[in-house]
Amino acid sequence: MSIASAIDKNALRLKRSWVYLRLVKTHGMRQTKQREAILATLQEAARPLSWEEVLAGARVRCPRVGERTVFRNLREMMDEMLLVRVYLPGQPTRYELPTGEHCPHFICRQCGQVFQLPGETPEVMHGYTPPEGFTIDGEDVVFFGRCPTCHD
Ligand SMILES: [Zn+2]
Repeated sequence: MSIASAIDKNALRLKRSWVYLRLVKTHGMRQTKQREAILATLQEAARPLSWEEVLAGARVRCPRVGERTVFRNLREMMDEMLLVRVYLPGQPTRYELPTGEHCPHFICRQCGQVFQLPGETPEVMHGYTPPEGFTIDGEDVVFFGRCPTCHD
């Protein structure tokens, strides 16, 4: 066995064990090839993905996976809080792995990709008093600009 394929196998095993931990150990869900493909796609992308991007990524690993199967698995894993939906104004719904933090999102004006930036969202409500009659119970910070790929 070449060194490269040994490394590949090891990387695959690590990825599998990460999926196993999330799916089976923490959430008591069955580990299927489809779920593994969806989770690995989201983890590798490390940014919120649209439905089409999830499907394309899942098909790299599971070429014959159907749209309905991916959609059903997304829904099931969302019910289990393994995935979260990301709603941004004027954007299609995206999916991401929960981080446990309320991270700000970033939309690249050039390529349109959405990223989840590390760190807690800055407190924008600090010092803002809503007009009378308005009660605010949430906020979502979205930054716009250029991503590292589009920067040049
Ligand atoms: Zn970009």
